[in-house]
Amino acid sequence: MPYELTKKLRSVDTYQPAEEEAEIRLDANESCFDIAQEMGEAIAKAVAGISMNRYPDPSAKAVTEAFAEYYGIDPAYCTAGNGSDELIGLILSSYLEKGDNVLILSPDFSMYAFYGYMSELKIKTLHKEEDLKINVSKVIEYCNNNDVKAVIFSNPCNPTSMGVTRQDMIRLVRNVFCLVIVDEAYMDFWGESIMDKVSDFDNLIVLKTCSKNMGMAALRLGFAIACPNITEAMKAVKSPYNINAVTQAAACEVLKNKALLTVHTAEIIRNRKKLQSAVSELAERFFVIEKVYDSVTNFVFIKTAAAEEIYNGLLERSVRVRRLGSYIRITVGTESENARFLEAFEDTLGLIQGF
Ligand SMILES: *Cc1c(COP(=O)(O)O)cnc(C)c1O
Repeated sequence: MPYELTKKLRSVDTYQPAEEEAEIRLDANESCFDIAQEMGEAIAKAVAGISMNRYPDPSAKAVTEAFAEYYGIDPAYCTAGNGSDELIGLILSSYLEKGDNVLILSPDFSMYAFYGYMSELKIKTLHKEEDLKINVSKVIEYCNNNDVKAVIFSNPCNPTSMGVTRQDMIRLVRNVFCLVIVDEAYMDFWGESIMDKVSDFDNLIVLKTCSKNMGMAALRLGFAIACPNITEAMKAVKSPYNINAVTQAAACEVLKNKALLTVHTAEIIRNRKKLQSAVSELAERFFVIEKVYDSVTNFVFIKTAAAEEIYNGLLERSVRVRRLGSYIRITVGTESENARFLEAFEDTLGLIQGF
């Protein structure tokens, strides 16, 4: 008998980020600032001091402390992961049992359903409202009436670019009996975090990443923040040396430079506001853009029946964005990248509408 993959593996597809060649890449929500250009020397020095023959610190102590210091929280509540992606997988496979109900919201980040599926959970999906907003009362009601063991979603949301306020999030965590996993990958662009509330709740995990506003996507570093009971379990189930020494050393240097990261984040927010209003102005002239959502993130999200034509038109002009069905998501770039995008976008819209 030939070896056969399990049934669940046979239906898994490889994650496919956009690969088409383009000069302007606004498709992956990365930071437009390359921290290595500004801090290269300090990073190189820190990395040069690593003993490559030794295993890295399994608790990633120094970098976890630098992260906690950055946000003014207690490092005892933080666990480092190889990207928050690793943590999502770890949480769904460890804090729930096979066959448990996990609630996801739709549309949302695709990895929740993927890891839920790999962990053999029952995935329940609650669709967002017509305007793509989250109705917190409905989420609470769904959790409490459907034997949901955990609910996981991004706030602010990738891809909708909108968020649930801190007050509503606290209401949610307080009124459900299940575990609430809130992925705050984009929260630094908004400021409604509930990261400081983890000590008040025994059912809350907040996920953070260093890949977005901090501009360290290449290093693969994220954190789970939760009460001691949850955190102890997290440290027990993670793989021992999940954060490599290069990442620990380099990220430490970057996290200590809060002034620089704050400037970058503020600049991205400023550029997002400009991009958002420029796209909204185009939406008034070009009726194929049905809606521009109010972004609190580092990307702008639009609804359009011409998503495919727009995507291809931009690509022909060497601008890559992300297309999701009848929506387009545009990451905020540098000022000049945004200008290139807007020019290509206007050209493309003109051709589509025939003037
Ligand atoms: C980009 C992103 C992440 C980050 O993942 P990393 O593995 O830390 O790079 C997590 N959640 C959401 C919703 C994201 O968009």
